Amino acid sequence: MRASDRQIVKAAIQRLNANNAARKETGLYPLELVLLYVTMRCNAKCAHCFCRDNLNTGLPEYTIEQLEKIAESMPRVRMIILTGGEPMLRADLADVFRVFASRGKVETVMINTNGLQPQKTIALTEELKSEFPDVGLEWQFSLDGLAATHDRIRGVPGNFDKVIESLSAVYSLKQRFPCLGAHALTVINAENHTELVTLNDYLREAIHPDVVHGFELMRDVDQTAWNIPPKIKEDNAGPSLLQLPPVESFDQIARDLKLLNKRAAVRANAFHIHNLAQLEMVRTGKPQYPCVTAGESVAVLYSDGAVAHCEFTKPFANLAEFDFDFNALWRSGAAEKRRAQIKRCHCTHGCFHGKSVEYSWKGIAKMAAAALL
Ligand code: SF4
Ligand code: SF4
Repeated sequence: MRASDRQIVKAAIQRLNANNAARKETGLYPLELVLLYVTMRCNAKCAHCFCRDNLNTGLPEYTIEQLEKIAESMPRVRMIILTGGEPMLRADLADVFRVFASRGKVETVMINTNGLQPQKTIALTEELKSEFPDVGLEWQFSLDGLAATHDRIRGVPGNFDKVIESLSAVYSLKQRFPCLGAHALTVINAENHTELVTLNDYLREAIHPDVVHGFELMRDVDQTAWNIPPKIKEDNAGPSLLQLPPVESFDQIARDLKLLNKRAAVRANAFHIHNLAQLEMVRTGKPQYPCVTAGESVAVLYSDGAVAHCEFTKPFANLAEFDFDFNALWRSGAAEKRRAQIKRCHCTHGCFHGKSVEYSWKGIAKMAAAALL
């Protein structure tokens, strides 16, 4: 087993032991990941966008003052993902980062982006890493296929060239700054599932042989989630304009993912265990790993202050009702009531299912086995 893989598996074991001990004491896993929607504005028109109905509709955005209150009242977390919408459309994105980084509330901030603004990406990286060398900054660039496929799915001519320019620029900055990362994330769908390996070939050639390339199966609440009580099911999480890959292609996709895992210098997505389980879930409709993360280790904060335990269930409260005191909301009766309502559903959603793999001994055993391949 590679030393870096041994480290990943060892860290997962340590985390699970610590999380299980904390849950015994407090009744909940400690909060680990916050999905923070900083805007619902977007400059792309992705066919697979699961929140497209809410984009550019004038939904409110947090003020810096409101974010400060949230930061003051929340525990330190492993990761905050700034998402939307396109986070880079917020002119004060550096201040959003500062709110959490300056208070020591986060280990790593990930920025989800469509990569349409390479110059701003470089400037923001230099600014934030100079100011916060020890706080992690991880860029997640959406990449949906080779040039023609990517631009068609994204509805933006020239998007592929821009995202490659952005990813490449951050890679070249990695030598200068510690705690700086960047990876490409490909959402697998009916349009791109035959391009996964060639796309990865391209990235290794054009960006770096060590490029980190993650995958998610396209999400849609009607096609990739099961047993959500109808009254709390989030209607807006789809339907998408794209389809999932045909089930007949799943064996080939699984082979491709295993190949990519085997040859990756830096492993992504916990060795793709979660991706393989996603395929199995859609193929069989049966749960693979119990969802233990929604409403416990993961929280979703929408740009208008609404809070949900996951993106497939409706918000249960709004931070404005709690004067932006996150802890009061998270420990409220409304949060507890919703936790009780999401005990029986299962879904492929990466932020929750992917983490749930790491919260199970079965998942960790599979990670260890994949590391040996
Ligand atoms: S960039 Fe993100 S938010 Fe914007 S349309 Fe695409 S998937 Fe949706
Ligand atoms: S993330 Fe968890 S709680 Fe939410 S729909 Fe999926 S299985 Fe249910």
